[in-house]
Amino acid sequence: MYFCNSFADGVARHTPTVSILYSSTTMTSLDLPELLRQEGLCHPVTLTLAVTGQCNLNCSHCWVGAGAPASLPHLPSPAALAIIHEFAALGGRSIRFTGGELLLHPQWLTLLTSARQSRYDSISLQSNGILFTEKSAIALRELDFSGISIQISLDGATAASHDLVRGKGAFSKALRGISMLTNVGLGPRVTIFLTEMRHNLEEIPDLLELAEALGVAAVVTGALVRCGRASEQSRISPPDPEQYLRLLDRLANDQPFRRRYEEMGTTAAVEWRMNPTARQECCTFMKNPYLSPDGVLYPCTLCHAKDFSVSEVFKNGLVAAFREAVPLWSSLMQISRHRSKALPECQNCPEQAACAGGCMGRAWGSHGNLLTADDRCEVRKAVG
Ligand code: SF4
Ligand code: SF4
Repeated sequence: MYFCNSFADGVARHTPTVSILYSSTTMTSLDLPELLRQEGLCHPVTLTLAVTGQCNLNCSHCWVGAGAPASLPHLPSPAALAIIHEFAALGGRSIRFTGGELLLHPQWLTLLTSARQSRYDSISLQSNGILFTEKSAIALRELDFSGISIQISLDGATAASHDLVRGKGAFSKALRGISMLTNVGLGPRVTIFLTEMRHNLEEIPDLLELAEALGVAAVVTGALVRCGRASEQSRISPPDPEQYLRLLDRLANDQPFRRRYEEMGTTAAVEWRMNPTARQECCTFMKNPYLSPDGVLYPCTLCHAKDFSVSEVFKNGLVAAFREAVPLWSSLMQISRHRSKALPECQNCPEQAACAGGCMGRAWGSHGNLLTADDRCEVRKAVG
């Protein structure tokens, strides 16, 4: 679960001063924007907060390895609430709650309520959908505003595809969870997320049809990253480039699929074909940091490189963590800027202007090395 959301809403932002919450660190926090500017780094915008490593499933492709006996425990609520307030006070505009399974956290609604009160522009939830009840759906509707997004994973349009990676019965339970949300009017806030794999890529047109029938807002897909549990699995694999080409052919020739895609779909390979623009910026780390349930801050959702992480965030606070991260992430930015020129495989590649070596976080996630092309290189070249 790692795609980025971006929403706008009509709620005026409340920008509490850091001194209200952290009077002893006021100077430190006021210095942070200047420090970021000096280092050429972006101000953090979206925080992904993993509130638990526990999960009711044990999916084959789980990149955080959630649901295993040794998974990280729930993030204690006082620490989570402090982070939610502190990130808003720092000027963070959106927060994404993830896990493990978010709904296993005993205080998940309290955390969302707190985010709502902190006036984030956007709040997103990532869930496998199974644990939604009528009661929790109604409670969620009470918090509803145009900036809320509820992302539910569906790894296929059929039980056979979804359950292959998520376990028997998971598909029907996820559909039941989605119905709980649509029944209370939250369909326009629901996004279905599919992890693109060899066995399910060609179900994307059917998934769009299913999503339309369910009354949800969008279907977003993202290619499998071979890290976490996915690196150990042999029965799942990323799609072949030829599968993407078949999908693009179908998009060109299948009118209902094209209409639904234009209304609801986002798939990177399709977007590359439809909008082949030059890449505007290098990596968005620092803009989109990730905080694990044990208080380790990473530059982005996929780049869990120890050398670029900051620990003990719950003890020291976010401001101190970002300050500690600045020199580390500044050196990451230098690597990101020069990466495509340093990668031998990218020299003379016609895709270089648009791709620039792909996503550095994905490169680290899939190869454990920042200085490699990301794992979608062959697809990118085929689509290009
Ligand atoms: S539901 Fe999500 S967090 Fe849980 S095991 Fe599956 S992929 Fe991991
Ligand atoms: S498609 Fe591959 S070789 Fe070409 S720029 Fe992207 S990562 Fe480099």
